[in-house]
Amino acid sequence: MLIILVGLPSVGKSTFSKKLSKELYFNGIDNIVLGTDIIRECFPVWDSKYEKYIVDTTYQLIDNALKEFYVIVDDTNYYNSKRRDLINIANKNNKNYVIIYLTAPINVLIERNRKRGEKVPKDLIIDMSNKFDEPGKKYSWDKPDIVINTEEDIDFSRIINTIMEKDKKSKKSKKPGNRP
Ligand code: ADP
Ligand code: MG
Repeated sequence: MLIILVGLPSVGKSTFSKKLSKELYFNGIDNIVLGTDIIRECFPVWDSKYEKYIVDTTYQLIDNALKEFYVIVDDTNYYNSKRRDLINIANKNNKNYVIIYLTAPINVLIERNRKRGEKVPKDLIIDMSNKFDEPGKKYSWDKPDIVINTEEDIDFSRIINTIMEKDKKSKKSKKPGNRP
């Protein structure tokens, strides 16, 4: 099972990933959290020329991990092309996937980002918010299975139930096509 997170910086993806990972484990499900940050942080500095390697290597890690574990993808995944790439990895491995969309108002994201030392420039968050491909808006395969308002309490038992129900279903129609 591939669990694809979608959400802007500071929405709470990494916090949520860690919690979901533990909750799945307590429900008897071996899982791993992967994302481009893991590889990105192996470089001494950030440079756009490293990005292709970062993304390719992360996809390879996900592809390999899926053969054994549930995989939680902790990344913004804010373009539907990224979601499509990930779904293609799930399909290739004959695994199901769920899309979990984490939300909060932009002013809340900017405030959370400020509190943690403005690691991501404020203007970049605003820019990403403007370019954001809302999951499911264009394609049915991209429709989020779970939408989480991170300003409210998160009901993990409901989330785990949804994931497990989805994993029982046989793989069908919700497949991306080629490039949109
Ligand atoms: P992301 O991985 O999406 O960038 P993080 O999980 O690193 O976000 O969280 C960003 C900041 O917001 C952190 O300081 C974290 O403690 C805080 N945070 C995460 N989730 C929540 C939440 N549900 N409510 C309030 N603050 C949160
Ligand atoms: Mg994060």
